[in-house]
Amino acid sequence: MNLLGIDFEDWFHPELIQRHITGLDKTPTVVNGIDKILDWLRKNETFATFFVVGELLEAKPELLDKIINGGHEIAFHTMYHTRIDSPNFKEKFTEEIKLFDKLTSKKSRGFRAPSFSLNHSSSWLIDTLAENNYLYDSSVMPAKTKLYGIPNADIKPYKISSSSLEQNDPSGKITEFPLLTTKLLGYTIPACGGFYLRFLPPKIIERAIKNNMKKGIPATFFIHSWELTPELMPKVELLFSDSFITYHNIGKALSRMDSLIKKFKFTSFERFISENSIN
Ligand SMILES: [Zn+2]
Repeated sequence: MNLLGIDFEDWFHPELIQRHITGLDKTPTVVNGIDKILDWLRKNETFATFFVVGELLEAKPELLDKIINGGHEIAFHTMYHTRIDSPNFKEKFTEEIKLFDKLTSKKSRGFRAPSFSLNHSSSWLIDTLAENNYLYDSSVMPAKTKLYGIPNADIKPYKISSSSLEQNDPSGKITEFPLLTTKLLGYTIPACGGFYLRFLPPKIIERAIKNNMKKGIPATFFIHSWELTPELMPKVELLFSDSFITYHNIGKALSRMDSLIKKFKFTSFERFISENSIN
């Protein structure tokens, strides 16, 4: 069984877009794609975890019931899609997680850091999650990329702590689900969804999932809401490289993800934890 997380955010949230749109009108549009995403999951008899940017629940409170009534789970992706290693974010995050608790009636038990920004300067996050009764985190990318990554981290789920981000800490209270990676030409690269799903040939992604399955390790996969509903995603003028990472093959993401969930079994994070007696 593999894990599917939907990073539910709007067109102005991705880090490479945020940098270029100060002052622009930020009216959410992608948020209106929720019914299409839920229909697609229902047709494929698949449950997923929605890592939601909190301000979207303020804009559209019915999101919560729609997600939960579909049998899916809600998890936290910060209130405004802020990198958690931003200066002085720790105090703000403590307020944000309490606000998200209120907005979701304490239904959220998991977290994903925007742009996988969990690293040695933001390891306080794990303590804050434990203090707030969270069960799991999925912010570790066990590969080195230009924007993020903890290359020496374990590739199978483990107990993480603020003093042990990379390896199992038996006293850790939070289960970490590292994102799927693969080896290509001697390098370890992400193979876990998002840009990699759009950029890498589908065969490489499928091979990565199969390799994990052979080892009995779940493949932790993610996709952005705006990749599933590209028709609601406006095209913002960006530098060439930023534009490539954000929009390359955006029209192919849904069909590629659809073919993966037909070939492999995916489920939501809390369901996986209870079915596999991880606690
Ligand atoms: Zn995100």
